[in-house]
Amino acid sequence: MSKIEQTLSIIKPDAVERSLENEIKEIFVTNGFSILKEKKIQIEKSEAEKFYKVHETKPFYNDLCEYLSSGPILVMVLEKENAVLGNRKLMGATNPKDAEEGTIRKKYGISIDKNSVHGSDSSDNAKSEIDFFFED
Ligand code: UDP
Ligand code: MG
Repeated sequence: MSKIEQTLSIIKPDAVERSLENEIKEIFVTNGFSILKEKKIQIEKSEAEKFYKVHETKPFYNDLCEYLSSGPILVMVLEKENAVLGNRKLMGATNPKDAEEGTIRKKYGISIDKNSVHGSDSSDNAKSEIDFFFED
């Protein structure tokens, strides 16, 4: 079943640093996503720790939070039918080496940690991630 959904997308520091925001936004729009909201921010490490709390027991957690807070990011709310899954497909696998041809991570990702984009992985997580950045 298809449903209009919203999902949270982040263009991560490695991509913002290379000025890839417009190219990546264009990919979303070309693939039928509407960008409902966007803001360019830099977050504190403590905020990254909250955002990635689900990963707090993982060995990469500290580096991940350091990294997400290391420079400006572009946070967006994307909307489309089945946006969560559609965005995950368009992003490609977490490790750019495993990402399929034509995906954002295949095209722009540098490594598993510098993989250029974040996308919510479920409808429930999308709601809480959107609230995290846009509810004030
Ligand atoms: N990550 C990492 N090392 C790993 C696994 C993940 O640095 O071994 C980072 C990577 O940037 C990834 C983020 O942690 O995007 C969150 O991991 P997750 O498994 O949720 O991947 P995603 O949902 O981003 O594909
Ligand atoms: Mg994830």
